Amino acid sequence: MTPASPEPTILTPTGDALDGAARALRAGRLVAFPTETVYGLGADATDDAAVVRIYALKRRPRFNPLIAHVADADAARSLVEVDARAASLMARFWPGPLTLVLPRRPECPVSLLAADGLPTLAVRQPAHPVALALLRAFGGPLVAPSANRSGRVSPTTAAHVAAEFGGTPLAILDGGPCAIGVESTVVDLSGPVATLLRPGAVTRDALVACIGRLDAPTATDRPRSPGQLESHYAPSLPVRLDATAARPGEALLAFGPVDTAGYSEVFWLSRDGHPGEAAARLFAGLRALDRDAFCAIAVSPIPETGLGEALNDRLRRAAADRERESPGVPAGGVI
Ligand code: AMP
Ligand code: MG
Repeated sequence: MTPASPEPTILTPTGDALDGAARALRAGRLVAFPTETVYGLGADATDDAAVVRIYALKRRPRFNPLIAHVADADAARSLVEVDARAASLMARFWPGPLTLVLPRRPECPVSLLAADGLPTLAVRQPAHPVALALLRAFGGPLVAPSANRSGRVSPTTAAHVAAEFGGTPLAILDGGPCAIGVESTVVDLSGPVATLLRPGAVTRDALVACIGRLDAPTATDRPRSPGQLESHYAPSLPVRLDATAARPGEALLAFGPVDTAGYSEVFWLSRDGHPGEAAARLFAGLRALDRDAFCAIAVSPIPETGLGEALNDRLRRAAADRERESPGVPAGGVI
């Protein structure tokens, strides 16, 4: 399981590969693995040194806490206090693309570095069979932020992960392209009112139908996650949103029945205007068009309904002014 070359190694997730990956994780090494949202960079959540390795490899600001991935709801209950709202959401949406922020239990073994010393912890049971098989083989919680350098476009294939971490001897379990393609919905249940910290495939409407009320985070909430930073998911080229006509030298991320005349290249998020299809193709599209041959990436308008909220959230951050908030170089420093 120790790759001989200093390059990432893409592995077919056989039983042997999963056992090897679990052993590597127990030894404090990092293993990238697929989830139904995006590929994660996994580490033993209870191992301070392994958690530090994640922040270092991603160059992630340490005030951006990590999600503890668990094999089942009982494993989550051993880490955090699960109230009635959390229990309803877990019963309805787990395994799946929903992360819950809950109060840590006093005996919670997850490294305090994983949540920057916060009294809360984010937990999720992913639905991808390879992620679940790895969690079971490992037998404990895994932190697994997206397997990309901080601030950059998230990976939705094993090849994307390998491209991010060239020169690093990292094992990558290949589970094919991610079905959902945008990161999990994050709901903060640590206070009396549930707040939506990050939109995702579990939509606002579906959450409200389950727990009745969901607020936006208040302005005083500090940015506790990469998803809350203004500039994130950023390709190298500038991104122009709501484009309805081509400008010279632009490539287009196209959605729905739009006029593509004049663009140097077109990547279809969804010809039929289907938000789920567009989400699954979003990060691959940003990567595919992020080339010197173009001067910018234009994006067709996407309606804000349903999964459109998550798509537009990622696109706004991909388009945000990077001078004002340089990705990966946060005020809080990097470990
Ligand atoms: P990711 O890069 O996908 O692992 O993103 C982590 C996400 O989890 C961020 O968007 C945060 O909103 C959220 N998160 C993790 N831990 C906490 C926490 N203790 N409090 C609030 N948000 C958290
Ligand atoms: Mg990320």
